[in-house]
Amino acid sequence: MRKLCTICFFVVHLHANYANMGAVNKFSIDYMSLPNGLHTFDFEVDDTLFGEMESNEIKGGNCKVHACLNCSDTKIDANIVISGSVVVECDRCLEDCNIPVDYSGLLTVRFSDLQHDYDGDVMWIAKGDQLSLKQYIYESIVISLPYRRVHEEGGCNPEMMARFTSAEIDDEEETLDIE
Ligand SMILES: [Zn+2]
Repeated sequence: MRKLCTICFFVVHLHANYANMGAVNKFSIDYMSLPNGLHTFDFEVDDTLFGEMESNEIKGGNCKVHACLNCSDTKIDANIVISGSVVVECDRCLEDCNIPVDYSGLLTVRFSDLQHDYDGDVMWIAKGDQLSLKQYIYESIVISLPYRRVHEEGGCNPEMMARFTSAEIDDEEETLDIE
C-alpha cells in the first residue's frame, strides 16, 4: 500500500507580503493533476499561518502536517495528522506558553459547483479548483487545543502571579467601594 504513495514535499518559505497573494497558498493541492489513488503531502505550519488567519488566541507555533489523500473521480478522502506545538497566552500568568498539538482527522472532499456548508467533516469544492487545506489545518489546530491552557505546574512566571494576586485584592476593594 505504502509503495502506491507519491511523496511530495511542500516546504515553502513565505515572504512578509505573502498574505496579499490571494487564493493560492502553500497548503493548496492541485489534485486535478493527480491520478486516482493514494498521494501523501507534507506541510510545515509556522507563525505565518496564525498571522494570516488573524488568530486571537494563537500567537505562533510550529507544526508538521502529514496528509494522505485517496483520490477518486467523485471524492477525495484525506487522512490528516498534525503534530507540533503552538504558543498561547497562559490562562494563569498571561505569559506565553507552549501547548503541544496532536491532531488526527479524516476529511472528505466532494465536488459541486453549488455552495455547500462546510461542516468540518465534508468540504465541498468546485471541480477544477485547487484543494486548499489552510482553513482545515488552522481550525483543526484550534480544536485540538485543551480548554485550559496553562504552564506546567510551577512553570508560571512568579512575578506575574504575585502581581495578579495584588490586583485581585485591589479589584475587590474597588467593587466594595462602588457598592
Ligand atoms: Zn503560566
